[in-house]
Amino acid sequence: MNIAVCVKEVPSATSAKRLDPSTYRLDRSGDSELNPFDVHGLEEAIKLREAGHEVEEIVAVCMGRENAQRPLQKALALGADRVVLLTDPALAGSDISGTAYALATVLEKQNADLVILGQQASDADCYVMAAAVADHLRRPLVTQVASLSLEGGTLRAKRQTEHGYDVIEATLPAVISVSDAINTPRLPSIKAIMGAKKKPTDQVSAADAGIDPSRVGEGGAKSVVRSVSPPPAKQEGRRIEDTGGDSAGAIVEFLAERGVI
Ligand SMILES: Cc1cc2nc3c(=O)[nH]c(=O)nc-3n(C[C@H](O)[C@H](O)[C@H](O)COP(=O)(O)OP(=O)(O)OC[C@H]3O[C@@H](n4cnc5c(N)ncnc54)[C@H](O)[C@@H]3O)c2cc1C
Repeated sequence: MNIAVCVKEVPSATSAKRLDPSTYRLDRSGDSELNPFDVHGLEEAIKLREAGHEVEEIVAVCMGRENAQRPLQKALALGADRVVLLTDPALAGSDISGTAYALATVLEKQNADLVILGQQASDADCYVMAAAVADHLRRPLVTQVASLSLEGGTLRAKRQTEHGYDVIEATLPAVISVSDAINTPRLPSIKAIMGAKKKPTDQVSAADAGIDPSRVGEGGAKSVVRSVSPPPAKQEGRRIEDTGGDSAGAIVEFLAERGVI
């Protein structure tokens, strides 16, 4: 069995977030890291291998900048056997639909029985990529997987919902997105960090991957950001001082006025 894990390069948690005022795109010039939600996807792939399933290869697939190498080294240190980096200036400005099409085109060539994505990317938080990729690949999809097992050619997933859990079975080949509650990712050892340097990274351009340039990049985007504005300023809270009077009554009145109690 082969597993592909989609991993995204995102601005690091400590770098200042800024939108480019001319393009309304996120300024990605600062430090970057591996999307923390994708670490759970890699961990789950490794756990399947450790559980005795015959996982021949775990490949990490990323669409990102040419210098996404650093976060991708982490994916290799965490246990991916190989990385495919799809990078091309023609892909800049791709929206969800272009990104999903491009990722699916690369994934199709990986011969993966199971494709794993994170629940969200910490920079854009769309939560939708797994569904869009599964649609392109015409494969069954289970999202927000909080626990996973495999038996033969079938996966069994416990799916986290607002009201509890669904248990869903799907036949491989399939696509899943994992919840961040599915596992506790390990930290890579020094040996694994050093070993990552010897693992292969295949860098492919849009043309190498057979991507139709009219479906990606700014030109292929189906959504356009028309304007952006800061969130409304937070209103100042009301302070009720305990001055020995009926402050508790004032709090009750305040909450009742807003329908909280
Ligand atoms: C008009 C427009 C222009 C944009 N221009 C750019 C741009 O130039 N550069 C840019 O990076 N973004 C750009 N974006 C944002 C980009 O489209 C989204 O980041 C992308 O669609 C995925 O959304 P998400 O990351 O929130 O996905 P989510 O659905 O939140 O992510 C879920 C999972 O999908 C996988 N995933 C998502 N993206 C990738 C990826 N690139 N590679 C591998 N795995 C991935 C990960 O496993 C992730 O955990 C643009 C968006 C718009 C609307």
